[in-house]
Amino acid sequence: MKRISWDQYFMAQSHLLAMRSTCTRLMVGATIVRDKRIIAGGYNGSVSGGVHCIDEGCYIIDGHCVRTVHAEANALLQCAKFGVPTDGAEIYVTHFPCLQCCKQIIQSGIKAVYYANDYKNHPYALELFDDAGIHTKKVALTELSIDENYREKETYIQKLLKELERQTDDQENLQTLKAEADALFRL
Ligand SMILES: [Zn+2]
Ligand SMILES: [Zn+2]
Repeated sequence: MKRISWDQYFMAQSHLLAMRSTCTRLMVGATIVRDKRIIAGGYNGSVSGGVHCIDEGCYIIDGHCVRTVHAEANALLQCAKFGVPTDGAEIYVTHFPCLQCCKQIIQSGIKAVYYANDYKNHPYALELFDDAGIHTKKVALTELSIDENYREKETYIQKLLKELERQTDDQENLQTLKAEADALFRL
């Protein structure tokens, strides 16, 4: 039996965390690993106890949602909160980190950044990582599959059902289809 690789395992964990994101503009997950052990995880979310973008809508300033703490920062802050050293650790992220997170990753002593998806990949971030001697590598999730855009799919199915509702005379069939959709997307 072939086991999944460490890279795939940690990246899968980050994808799972991304599904906990409370801001749908970008669902990101981050896992911090030291000596092949997960020491912290984070996702894009509001400060503890704050309202969620998925409930109240995003708080946009200059084209960015300012409500959330980024996944990478949340994972690092979890280490700070519980006193877990990050020096020499590695981070697995679903998306290439933004400039702010890059700087925080460098300052925390993390030595390697593995990312599943390119995301704007700021040239200054690459330069900073390079100067700091941080290893970066793209690690796509290939050995197992995680549905990353199930929310968009649910929205799409709901749209189709609304359209069908407008056009159909077959109420019974419509109710069956609605029940099937509900069963599929029940969380
Ligand atoms: Zn938001
Ligand atoms: Zn960020």
